[in-house]
Amino acid sequence: MEKPIYLSPPVYEDRIVIPDIKSGDVYESINKVILDFETRVQEFLDTTKQVVALNSGTSAIHLALILAGVQKGDFVLCQSMTFVACANPILYQGAIPVFVDSEENTWNMSPTFLKEAYFDCCKRGKVPKAIIVTSLYGLSSNMDAILAFAKAKNIKVIEDSAEALGSTYRNKKLSTIGDYGILSFNLNKIVTTGGGGVLVVNTLKEKERAVFLATQAKEKLSYYHHTTLGYNYRIGHLNAALGIIQFNKLKVNLEKKILNFNFYNSLFKNIIGVTLHEEPSADYNSNYWLNTVLIDPLKTRGIDRENLRNAFAKANIESRPLWKPMHLQPIFEKAEFYGAGVSDKLFKNGLCLPSGSNLTNDDKERIQKVIFELFKRF
Ligand SMILES: *Cc1c(COP(=O)(O)O)cnc(C)c1O
Repeated sequence: MEKPIYLSPPVYEDRIVIPDIKSGDVYESINKVILDFETRVQEFLDTTKQVVALNSGTSAIHLALILAGVQKGDFVLCQSMTFVACANPILYQGAIPVFVDSEENTWNMSPTFLKEAYFDCCKRGKVPKAIIVTSLYGLSSNMDAILAFAKAKNIKVIEDSAEALGSTYRNKKLSTIGDYGILSFNLNKIVTTGGGGVLVVNTLKEKERAVFLATQAKEKLSYYHHTTLGYNYRIGHLNAALGIIQFNKLKVNLEKKILNFNFYNSLFKNIIGVTLHEEPSADYNSNYWLNTVLIDPLKTRGIDRENLRNAFAKANIESRPLWKPMHLQPIFEKAEFYGAGVSDKLFKNGLCLPSGSNLTNDDKERIQKVIFELFKRF
């Protein structure tokens, strides 16, 4: 069996350097590593907004919901086509998720169904408190449409940019566009801290609140005193140190992701019935975290997503169906959904392709061979 080609493996430097932490000022130097990492992320995002480093993207979403004032029984409008980590924090807050379908071009939240969901919630007597949009596989949602509606209705927008570090919408980095933004640095994301994430907020006051909540809500007293429910969500300093190193390679790795996209684009461009997830206009710039395709078996003489997935598996190449939408998940079976089958179709026909920034020419040849053999192109 040939060596495995993975979907999106972590790519580490040869050697991980542990930061120099002097005894004497241990706590100060530990904290400095975390603050340095936050500064590094803030510089990359090219923003005056505040960055809070946390132990995961999931905890960043949870804190964003708390800062947005989401409480028990509130409605939260959430993109259905996403990873469960995006929707679970709604339940952590005791709030009620209302799922919204995708639009055809970006695969992200449909502004049309967003409005329908909003007005239906209002009819049921409660104005939704927040909107969570995901930038699937690195591509932005139609942020202009979503933000314009949210502003008019005075609802907070949380950008789940976990997959979209480095992507932009109208030249603005994703995670800095909405009221709150989140990024993830888990093992399969472009930057990994071996587990971690950040929350992007507008003001220093919000950052202080987030850090307070993320460190068990300990009041500023000599003893342990708590009046608020807190969490253990702050990033570990070794993870932050790894993050600083990883950011040095980010630019290069983003360029490699574009090369991966170009590779798949040239492979599929003449195969009828297979379409890549692509930037719909010059307003959108994807980091191409994962390259993904839709396969329409009606146009491929019957070849479907599973045929390609199985052909890859036989060659020890990892590929995976797209996210299964939240409105199809048993855990959310009672939740409301507004849509017209777009995300259902994405789940049925979509496949994520190997997209690591360390994909070699040999890997690409093996991938190409599988695709050409299946679709009979030589
Ligand atoms: C990875 C991911 C998250 C969660 O990030 P963690 O750091 O693993 O908690 C949330 N949403 C989406 C869409 C993701 O892909």
